[in-house]
Amino acid sequence: MDPRTECIEFINPATGEKFGEVRMSTEEEVMRARREMAAAQVTWAAKPLKERARIIKEFQRVIIDATDELTAIVNQDHGKSRGDALHEVIMTVDKIHQYARLSPKWLGRRRVPPGLYFFRRYYTERVPFGVVGIIGPWNYPIDLMLPPIVAALLAGNTVVVKPSEVAAATGVELEKLFQRVPELAPFVRFIHGDGRVGAALVKSKPDLLFLTGSVKTGRIVAKAAAEHMIPFLYELGGKDPMLVLEDADIRAAAHWGVWGAFYTTGQACVSVERVYVHEKVYDAFVAAVLEETAKFTVGYSPDIDNPYRMGPLTFERQCDIVNTHLQDAIAKGARVLMGGQQTGMFIEPTVLADVDHTMQVMREETFGPVLPIMKVSDDTHAIQMANHSEMGLSAYVWSRDLAHAKRVAEQLQVGVVNINDTMSHYPVSLLPFGGVKMSGNARTHGAGEVTQFTHTKSYAVGAPPNPIDPATMVRYPGHYRLGKAILGGFFGVTPQQRVAPLLDYLTNDPKGRQAVTRTAVGLSAASVVGVMAAVMLGRKK
Ligand code: NAD
Repeated sequence: MDPRTECIEFINPATGEKFGEVRMSTEEEVMRARREMAAAQVTWAAKPLKERARIIKEFQRVIIDATDELTAIVNQDHGKSRGDALHEVIMTVDKIHQYARLSPKWLGRRRVPPGLYFFRRYYTERVPFGVVGIIGPWNYPIDLMLPPIVAALLAGNTVVVKPSEVAAATGVELEKLFQRVPELAPFVRFIHGDGRVGAALVKSKPDLLFLTGSVKTGRIVAKAAAEHMIPFLYELGGKDPMLVLEDADIRAAAHWGVWGAFYTTGQACVSVERVYVHEKVYDAFVAAVLEETAKFTVGYSPDIDNPYRMGPLTFERQCDIVNTHLQDAIAKGARVLMGGQQTGMFIEPTVLADVDHTMQVMREETFGPVLPIMKVSDDTHAIQMANHSEMGLSAYVWSRDLAHAKRVAEQLQVGVVNINDTMSHYPVSLLPFGGVKMSGNARTHGAGEVTQFTHTKSYAVGAPPNPIDPATMVRYPGHYRLGKAILGGFFGVTPQQRVAPLLDYLTNDPKGRQAVTRTAVGLSAASVVGVMAAVMLGRKK
């Protein structure tokens, strides 16, 4: 990386216009950022959690004040409408608000039952990893960056952030927002650049890495992280299926299925990427989809009153992937029912029929405005096809009978199922979100997003071991029968398991017999005292 020549240009994908640039960070700057964040982490972690939450609320205020600035930058950087960018700001602020409010509860000390060690106290606390490296994607450049940064900070970490080179202008804008909160700015460091800068961040050995990106990058980063044994959390691609069952509301499924496929030009990790429709409703569904797709106007506007439903793709490589998938599908027998044409960075909303799983468009993430529809014979066939994927982020099921939809949903190998809607699970800030299989191992949204940036540290506390504590006694030799009596007494499953070892101890172990004698003496003494007391009480009467 040569700092004199290497810059990332900010290009508006809709107009091709350059609107700025940022210099790529050098490897030395990345290393320095990591070192400085390690030094600063001690100060940040020493602040009480309530204080950290107060500072994060200040950051929340700054974001809300900067809403118009943010939506204008994202509109230019990504091509999505100001309204869709505002939706990102709302989702982001919702999460920050909940995390700042609930972190003291999620991260607080937790008492743990003492087991057999009755005379001691046990508890666990959540401690930060140290410096977290966060590498982000371009498609939701606010909502996929700020919540994990804030979650890591609330947990007591400092953060080195690398935004995507494809949304570099938004990355620079986010950096400025942090600088507007002087109490927070020293604990977050931005580095800018492409995958090489991301690789330098991994090489700088942060204490934890969090990546949102493609499966391809996930594989590369996983290997590099493993080399240094760096814990690695990843949120990767999706190939979300939508299942339209025989008893679905066809009009609603078509309307929201089309929206879920083409919203933000299909460039969401939870976009509807493939549809499986029961053969009995297939024709009606396809007809309704074409009607809905025809309404999806395409264009770009920088105004807040944007009239278009769909914007451009965000960069050239994304157009290439979409076109490759389309050509592959057509070559293998798919029919284009609508769309398919590209003008500049705009690709028409495209509906495909006669697709099957030999085609890339049904197996690999397309991340563009393409809706392939496949006919299936029954629920089992639909479930089989939906699960026939290396990815497992979310899935959509449509049925008028919620119990029927739920039975199908339970069999889908994904992290989230949304019944009778598309995408409305993602904006819910406390509903755990994340995938299975190659879609990822991290969880965002809710307590899990914050706690994954900590590890537990446990404490065992008390006075020196008490000799009358059975758990202490069994540390010494000669207590085998007592140990078995404890094992059976506490954990025995049958009456025989619970009682027999105790009887064996009391009759065959010298200390057990002693205990019986002492108890018997104690009981006789107690009964003598009892009788005397009764006699005395009787006399008083
Ligand atoms: P990408 O994998 O191309 O890039 C992601 C980030 O990794 C970028 O910042 C990039 O510069 C960086 N990077 C690239 N090579 C690297 C390397 N060798 N070492 C370290 N960092 C490197 O992904 P993208 O195109 O920016 O994002 C789109 C992808 O993200 C899609 O697959 C989408 O499904 C996925 N995504 C997933 C979720 C989720 O929550 N699961 C959310 C949004 C997007």
